[in-house]
Amino acid sequence: MKKKIIIIGSGFSSLSAACYLAKSGHQVNIYEKNSTPGGRARQLKKDGFVFDIGPSWYWMPDVFEKFFNDFGKSVSDFYQLERLDPGYQVYFGKNDSVSIGDNLEKIYDAFEEVEKGSAQKLKKFIEKAADNYKIAIDELVYRPGVSPLELITPETIKKLGYFFSNVKKEVTRDFKNPKLAQILQFPVLFLGAKPADTPAFYNFMNFADFGLGTWHPKDGMYSIVKGMVSLAESLGVKIHVDSPVDEIVLEKNTAVGIKLKGNTILCDIVLSGADYHHTETLMPQQYRAYSEAYWDKKVFAPSSLLFYVGLNKKVKKVSHHTLFFDVDFDTHASAIYDKAEWPDEPLFYANFPSISDPDMAPEGKEACFILIPIAPGLEDTDKLRDKYFDIVLNRLEALTGQELKDDILFKESFCVNDFISVYNSYKGNAYGMANTLFQTAFLRPKLKSKKVNNLFFSGQLTVPGPGVPPALISGKLVAGLIEKN
Ligand SMILES: Cc1cc2nc3c(=O)[nH]c(=O)nc-3n(C[C@H](O)[C@H](O)[C@H](O)COP(=O)(O)OP(=O)(O)OC[C@H]3O[C@@H](n4cnc5c(N)ncnc54)[C@H](O)[C@@H]3O)c2cc1C
Repeated sequence: MKKKIIIIGSGFSSLSAACYLAKSGHQVNIYEKNSTPGGRARQLKKDGFVFDIGPSWYWMPDVFEKFFNDFGKSVSDFYQLERLDPGYQVYFGKNDSVSIGDNLEKIYDAFEEVEKGSAQKLKKFIEKAADNYKIAIDELVYRPGVSPLELITPETIKKLGYFFSNVKKEVTRDFKNPKLAQILQFPVLFLGAKPADTPAFYNFMNFADFGLGTWHPKDGMYSIVKGMVSLAESLGVKIHVDSPVDEIVLEKNTAVGIKLKGNTILCDIVLSGADYHHTETLMPQQYRAYSEAYWDKKVFAPSSLLFYVGLNKKVKKVSHHTLFFDVDFDTHASAIYDKAEWPDEPLFYANFPSISDPDMAPEGKEACFILIPIAPGLEDTDKLRDKYFDIVLNRLEALTGQELKDDILFKESFCVNDFISVYNSYKGNAYGMANTLFQTAFLRPKLKSKKVNNLFFSGQLTVPGPGVPPALISGKLVAGLIEKN
């Protein structure tokens, strides 16, 4: 039966679900509180500079291709993709960096240069990671997390040991060189937890990194949003921006609509791609499946302090994606996950999209986006933001041997308070709930409400987890459950 479906929020998972549901003939309306669609993947345009406000790493291109293929389309029908070379560069000290090239041979060579004999070890490591990637994609991530039995297949049983070991242990067993160990632990940071708390099976992210590569959609990640919006609209989805949903309307324990700016809009199904915790606050307490104590105990992905900087010159000795791992990783991780305090010496990530995409900054200038991961819920003041901007800019200048301060045309920032006010994010988390062993698959908050009929969820706090590719998958999974409802 064709249904009237309301989707709260327009992040990737919502857009994905909307496409699948509209393709099946349902009438789909998306209500987004902000003035543009795309959720955390908004775009900032200023004085000829273009910045992605949220995600900037395009990994797992196969997942995007699969999504568009489900609609008889291809990524290339919507945006142009380029594999970056180097994929990224990692700084460990002044003029001391390692670049990750655009194919495995180049990466083996880079490892060998840092430590003799490591190329051979990396080959073996990547073979196993590739095997795990195949299992993850074929047998795990496209499962809705309804039952633990979903995880039990002949292939996954063979890999059981990987679920009870962790990424840090596996990496440091094979790679003693701290730089190489650091590079190999970086990809799982996308999953939101410390490598020591992330099951070793997730080393499939190393294959995603080295084997599948880092890509750039022309004009930035917002091109994906534009592509998905165009697909959704072609399928009949209506997207309403500037439309904050105030309440989920219930009849007994069944969702029958939403309240928006004082008006009630009725429907058969409500699906929320907004943060799970926030969505449940749109209903009285007794209809919420998860208590405040439940959320408080969960490991959340970090929040971030972000800067969007327009520079009046080109920046030297950096790449499109540049990581600054010149300070102790474990100390910063402990400030995020154990102590929940501002780090004394932060690791940071800087993105210069105009290096590979000249249209993202005026000629001769550079767009610079800086991200410092921090614990969710931290105090957020202008003074702290300024203090950390000075710290990271001084480091960027010192490590790359150039002056940039006098060339700052403008600087915008975004932090915990903005994540809360702009996205209704729980404690200002940037990318959802982490994928630890006890927060994986069926152990994550459910796609289908346990207490309210006809209410569903998608996105980075449910299955499969944080990141743009998982959000696309989440939308597909929830659409499948709605079909079966
Ligand atoms: C700074 C940053 C960097 C990141 N980097 C990467 C990266 O490089 N690569 C990667 O793959 N992933 C990255 N991520 C993660 C990725 O962006 C997210 O996991 C993904 O975009 C989340 O999609 P989602 O569908 O869960 O929804 P979200 O993007 O969270 O969208 C939810 C939407 O719901 C709206 N909403 C909330 N409340 C209401 C309401 N009451 N009424 C109406 N609308 C409402 C919000 O405004 C928002 O638009 C990053 C995230 C951030 C923040």
